[in-house]
Amino acid sequence: MYDCDICGRAAEIAYVVEIEGAMMTLCERCAKGKTPVRVLGEERMQKSTARKEPAARDEPEVVSDYGHRIRSARDAIGMSTKVLAEKINEKESTLIRVENQRMLPDETLRKKLERELGIKLMEQVPRGRTSAAGGSNTPTTLWDAAIRKEKKKQ
Ligand SMILES: [Zn+2]
Repeated sequence: MYDCDICGRAAEIAYVVEIEGAMMTLCERCAKGKTPVRVLGEERMQKSTARKEPAARDEPEVVSDYGHRIRSARDAIGMSTKVLAEKINEKESTLIRVENQRMLPDETLRKKLERELGIKLMEQVPRGRTSAAGGSNTPTTLWDAAIRKEKKKQ
């Protein structure tokens, strides 16, 4: 906060204005119509608006390797696509297309697969944050861990 040299009000942003050879720190109102030499506190304002700005809705998204996750989890329990398709009441061809990532599972199918295989096909994608920081808030299942391990091997 800065105190205005004219009106004494505390201002979030202060304008340094040269008046008759003297540097004055003024609030926005008092600085009106004058050309500021410097603007103080603007940086902080930008930062605080930037913090608000990333309309930070961490929307869950289907993971990019959903097909791989489904197949790995299915393979791990030795279940064929046919059996799995029957269990979740879907066509085997649909399941195969999803596994090959040629088709994004809709919400119903995704939930059935998640329940049947004990995997997570959705993940929170934190917007405006680096991926290095994220991930810790993603629920991890045993299958996820197994799949991650398998991925590392490749
Ligand atoms: Zn003022």
